[in-house]
Amino acid sequence: MTTRSISATVAVIGGGVVGAAITFTLAHRGVDVVLLESDSDLAYSASGTNSGVLHTGFDSTPGQLETELIIRSAAIRPAVLDALDVPVIHAGAELVPHQPEDHDTIRELAANAATNGVEVSIRKSDGALLVPGESVTDPVAFTLALAGSAVAAGAQVELNARVVGASTSEDGVTLQLEDGGEVTAKLAINSAGLHADDIARLFGDDSFEIYPRKGEFFVFELPEGKTLDHIVLPVPTKRTKGVLVFPTLDGHVVAGPTAVDLEDKNDWSVRAEAHTEVLEKAAANYPALEGLTPIATYAGLRPAGRDTNYVIGVSDASDKLINVAAIRSTGLSASLGIGAYVADLLPGLGIETTEQQAPTPITDRAVPQGEWWRRTANRHAAAQPTVEQVQR
Ligand SMILES: Cc1cc2nc3c(=O)[nH]c(=O)nc-3n(C[C@H](O)[C@H](O)[C@H](O)COP(=O)(O)OP(=O)(O)OC[C@H]3O[C@@H](n4cnc5c(N)ncnc54)[C@H](O)[C@@H]3O)c2cc1C
Repeated sequence: MTTRSISATVAVIGGGVVGAAITFTLAHRGVDVVLLESDSDLAYSASGTNSGVLHTGFDSTPGQLETELIIRSAAIRPAVLDALDVPVIHAGAELVPHQPEDHDTIRELAANAATNGVEVSIRKSDGALLVPGESVTDPVAFTLALAGSAVAAGAQVELNARVVGASTSEDGVTLQLEDGGEVTAKLAINSAGLHADDIARLFGDDSFEIYPRKGEFFVFELPEGKTLDHIVLPVPTKRTKGVLVFPTLDGHVVAGPTAVDLEDKNDWSVRAEAHTEVLEKAAANYPALEGLTPIATYAGLRPAGRDTNYVIGVSDASDKLINVAAIRSTGLSASLGIGAYVADLLPGLGIETTEQQAPTPITDRAVPQGEWWRRTANRHAAAQPTVEQVQR
């Protein structure tokens, strides 16, 4: 077997939605780019284990980089989704008040949305907050479509390409792959999710730490004749954003996620007690779930920064590295904004870019359609409780 020897102007490390969106954006700005993914396919980590909700940023804190990039993404996204045939349900979200204090929270959220320029309204009949721009996609199809379009525009995507070493010189960077391969580039972009801190350390950068925040989900089939046509969001409390209920593109309904801080970056299991935790909260806002048995369950690991969020920029340790790390809870929504923000940094590092080109149609990779959550649930099936255990 020959070992890989790859060269490109920019090497993106990590093929989640963030790495795919950066690769997509750079390829469409005329940059010779390679995406390196350690796994056997893209979007097996956080990017394939989330809620698939494309947030508008209505509840995001004004002025933060995260908010700026969610909003920037929302402006870019419709044309990209359309050109690449990525499925979306333009469902809108509803937050229905149950406690007297919820009405104050809803008024505060409406004011926050106005500051962020996001359309919302308050329903007269019950005081619910309506957010028409919130939508649901297939996060795996979304990631694969971005990568597929990048490839059609000239990018390379390398799977089973785990970066285990890095050395820099005045000219650029050399990355060592676990299988003995080597990648040379002028610049590396670190979008390695849960392992972004490990990658940064290869460059002598120990300025941030990533830990996994687990979120557990349950997938349901509604009884005959029953459908859910919008995203059910709980009214948040000071402590938590809570459990949401959302429809999938294939006609199922998902409830989750939990938020459990962990140390083990490989623990994709669903805790047996998660079912009660999730279902109690979900059924309070969507009673149709009461008494239903889930048909599948999965867990996602948010790449959370310890005391930090959205670490994006040139590393202090090396100007051959851009970190794009700690994209904890909104990376699917913000990914195209992140891609544009990162691409804007390149000319300052001596890498020329062109104007952004229109998305290139995908030629050699079909965008999957169907039950993306099943791919996710099957991946870690051995670690999940059985339906009988869940029911107990
Ligand atoms: C429970 C949950 C619910 C969420 N809900 C939403 C939501 O509804 N909407 C939303 O916008 N966001 C949501 N998010 C957040 C979103 O999923 C993340 O912000 C986003 O997926 C982060 O993408 P990423 O590409 O940075 O990381 P990842 O998807 O984790 O990708 C990182 C990739 O790097 C690869 N990698 C790691 N180490 C190496 C190495 N050494 N060499 C090469 N490759 C490597 C990994 O294999 C992985 O594929 C949710 C997340 C979770 C977990």
